[in-house]
Amino acid sequence: MEDMRYQVDLLTAMNQKLKNTGRMYKLICDTSQRAFIYINLVNNTVETLGKWENFFDFNLNEAIDLPRVCDYFTEDSQGELRRLLFIEKEGKKHQSLDLRSKDEHKWICVEVSVHCDEAGNLSDKIIAFSDVTKQKTHQDELSFMAYYDFLTNLYNRNYFITKLKEFIDKAQKSNSIVSVMLMDIDDFHNISDSRGILVGDEIIQNFGLFLHDLTEANVIGSRFDSDIFCLAIYDPCGHRSVDTIYRTVKEYLANPIRLTDMTEVSISVSVGVAEFPECSENALELINCAEIVMLKAKNSGKDNIKFFDTAILNSFLREVDIENRLKEAVHMSSFFVNFQPQYFSATKKLRGVEALVRWRDKDSGLISPSVFIPLAEKNGTIIPIGDFVLDASIKAFTEWKKKFNYSMILSINISSIQYSRQDFVPKIISAINKYNMNPEELELEITESVLIDDFNVVVSKIEELRDFGIKVSLDDFGTGFSSLSYLKGLPIDTLKIDKSFIDSISSDTASKIITESIVLMAKKLGYSTVAEGVETLEQLEYLKSISCDLIQGFYLGKPMDEQGIEELLLRII
Ligand code: C2E
Ligand code: CA
Ligand code: CA
Repeated sequence: MEDMRYQVDLLTAMNQKLKNTGRMYKLICDTSQRAFIYINLVNNTVETLGKWENFFDFNLNEAIDLPRVCDYFTEDSQGELRRLLFIEKEGKKHQSLDLRSKDEHKWICVEVSVHCDEAGNLSDKIIAFSDVTKQKTHQDELSFMAYYDFLTNLYNRNYFITKLKEFIDKAQKSNSIVSVMLMDIDDFHNISDSRGILVGDEIIQNFGLFLHDLTEANVIGSRFDSDIFCLAIYDPCGHRSVDTIYRTVKEYLANPIRLTDMTEVSISVSVGVAEFPECSENALELINCAEIVMLKAKNSGKDNIKFFDTAILNSFLREVDIENRLKEAVHMSSFFVNFQPQYFSATKKLRGVEALVRWRDKDSGLISPSVFIPLAEKNGTIIPIGDFVLDASIKAFTEWKKKFNYSMILSINISSIQYSRQDFVPKIISAINKYNMNPEELELEITESVLIDDFNVVVSKIEELRDFGIKVSLDDFGTGFSSLSYLKGLPIDTLKIDKSFIDSISSDTASKIITESIVLMAKKLGYSTVAEGVETLEQLEYLKSISCDLIQGFYLGKPMDEQGIEELLLRII
């Protein structure tokens, strides 16, 4: 009896323990945010636990109903899910998948595990569902940030380069071509500066989304840098040929972009194109080649397209070589100055000389300033070169003055880079003082390119120079915007009419009319006029007849060394 009692107590205790354990497991399942299906594989019973109703709107009572779970997911994922629900058929014990809900609002992680009894026979299966939408979105955001540009949805630079390398690998194997089109929005910084960063962003977004629409499996796009975009085209032909894409871009940009503030803005792009394998087999080099020609497109008037070829590569390599040699030349004092005489047209009397720098390179001989000055402006060597010209020409000029006591003017060319420096005026003054030069005998030739700076700053510097008695002349008039209206506000002394006008006056009546009106206008504004590049008597006579004050050119005198000027002065005094 005692024994029976003991047995009952034991059973009751075990039962209670079991109940407690069951309750505990149920509580755990219910408080987790997951839904579970428990399947007893031996007697084929099914039970659902946890947050079942958060996922499904039906009750699952029998194992045969299990495929109904699939209806909760998108059609695309149902096949995978069916396989997952019966992993035991593939001999697997555990597997999980992230799948999309049918309404595409949620990501659900489905996890299936099967278990065996002690004899090793399949006994139980657990299927768990958990909502992983938050984690997934976060992950998507992270990978978006890693691969895409948030403003345009285009690839970012790093990911684009990775994809471009894949294109190149593929093209290498199939003997195909890959084109890279680098596009830069013209004058973007002016637009962004004048209309604000938000308008700038809107323009970038608008154009970027347009480019995004052009992308497909074989055309990828990237926002490469602030306003620079890049397309890479695998096997460019038909609708994805460079020509067709460029035409589509031009057609799109033919209409102004409408902004959210209801205003409109028109933009254009300069495009550089380089091709694998012609230009390079390396993704980064290919982009560099495209950039070189894109800059060429910018420098030749913007709003156009340029293709990289070997001639361009050679001229680029030559430029790089010259730029490097310029740095050496500055240290080795390989420069010297020539002087070209300038005459009064009415009297043929010598008015003065223009200092023109020369560079004798130890390997290539004389290199023209038209070639090296723009490169010196690019790499900054224009500053020491300009300092040298200033010093050497004033030195020579003051020596002639002492020797011949002939009153004349020294004209010196000033680059906009020099002009924009804060120490520009003090440098000029100290050079004048060093050689005791009369400032009224100095004339500085500036070009319209100095106007890239604030107009008021440019003018106040001119005024400062003129307060010292120094003259200022506007060089190459007729090659820049050449608008006479801005001239009104420019307190200069002399206007130099560019050689290109003088070249065409004998053959072209329009040039004659323009030259005549420039001279007339300049006179009204109180400037003297210089005609440069005068090569014939006919040009000289004509310029005299329209009262152009001064003449400079090969007809009356080529640039010459100090010795040449001394001989000239000896002849005229
Ligand atoms: P620029 O200031 O317009 O100088 C006039 C150029 O035309 C000079 O070329 C001169 O030799 C050339 N020239 C003068 N008369 C005639 C002519 O009748 N026919 C022809 N065909 N050419 C003529 P250069 O010396 O080669 O200088 C070219 C340019 O280089 C200059 O144009 C100027 O922009 C720049 N440059 C020269 N020296 C300096 C300098 O010391 N500093 C700066 N910043 N630029 C300089
Ligand atoms: Ca000049
Ligand atoms: Ca000139």
